[in-house]
Amino acid sequence: MVDLEGQYLKIKDEIDLAIQEVINASAFINGIPVESFGNELAQYLDVKYVIPCANGTDALQIAYMALGLKPNDEILMPVFNYVASSEAAALLGLKSVFVDVWEDSFNINENLIQKKITTATKAIVVVHLFGQSANIEPIIKIAQQFGLKVIEDNAQSLGSDYKFSTGVRKKTGTMGDINIHSFFPTKNLGCFGDGGAISTNDPVLAHRAKMISSHGQGQKYSYELIGCNSRLDTLQAAILRVKLRYMKNYLQCRKEAGQYYNEKLQDNQKIITPRENEWTYHSFNQYIIRVKSRDRIKDSLKKDGVPTMIYYPSPLHLQKAYLYLGYSVGDFPVAERLCQEVLALPIHTEMTREQQDYIVTSLNQSLDTL
Ligand SMILES: *Cc1c(COP(=O)(O)O)cnc(C)c1O
Repeated sequence: MVDLEGQYLKIKDEIDLAIQEVINASAFINGIPVESFGNELAQYLDVKYVIPCANGTDALQIAYMALGLKPNDEILMPVFNYVASSEAAALLGLKSVFVDVWEDSFNINENLIQKKITTATKAIVVVHLFGQSANIEPIIKIAQQFGLKVIEDNAQSLGSDYKFSTGVRKKTGTMGDINIHSFFPTKNLGCFGDGGAISTNDPVLAHRAKMISSHGQGQKYSYELIGCNSRLDTLQAAILRVKLRYMKNYLQCRKEAGQYYNEKLQDNQKIITPRENEWTYHSFNQYIIRVKSRDRIKDSLKKDGVPTMIYYPSPLHLQKAYLYLGYSVGDFPVAERLCQEVLALPIHTEMTREQQDYIVTSLNQSLDTL
């Protein structure tokens, strides 16, 4: 699915040097590279504040805490999603209220948001899934109208952007009140372990998020807020600093691979290739096709040595741990159908045309047997 070794080998000297420098300085916790990376990511995103932390899931929890969300507050989020946004909510006693998604872009359906708003609703989590931005402009409008906060989950879409109706483009992860990023190895910017960050333009939220990620400390051993312990490792920060310099190239490789699949697959009537919405740059963190008899196709590709993944096999409202929220089968028909049909093909920065041709041939052959 990915070729992290190949990606590393191309920049081995720089990475090895960066790691060695951390070891030489032996400032493993909150070393200088952590702050430097935060500043460089802020510059890359064009956002005022970046607070690095241990991973994207923690970043969501810290963002909710920074916003001061309280038990029983409701937060809206897409139901076709990774578990992190609901999990962090559940840990804080917040109630996840799910919203169905668009079947062609997999992102939250902004037209379904308003009817889910109650007097308990406090925030909307906008997840930019698989590499492209949700249609966030109307969501920001709804949030303003109802006094809600917007949290962007940009874990899968760093480097993507959104074009507002004015023509202004902003990077994903810079438009909400407070936003989160993940540097899990397979994300658009991946480190060699876990890593995450929070971004915001709001100095108060930035200050709170920074304190919360460090035990709620203002001055050392002075605890102003209840916090947690969520730090980006210095080693990971040093690696991320190097890789951030290659972001443009990484994004271009993903784009070329995604568009090559599109070109080769779009004429096959038995599958639906991913839609690239006109308002966003699709960074193809994942390449997701939709196909009937998905599991048979997956098995058949596996026999040819082609790995695939299912993101996601079940929508969140039907996951055992989240049944307590009280939803049932049929509540989110689009997400439920997508979970039967989606299939992720390998896509990464090191992909060759030969590999893609092989995958396409194998896929076409298995579709012929349907
Ligand atoms: C990966 C991911 C996260 C969590 O990131 P971690 O760094 O693995 O904790 C959150 N949300 C989405 C949509 C993700 O894909």
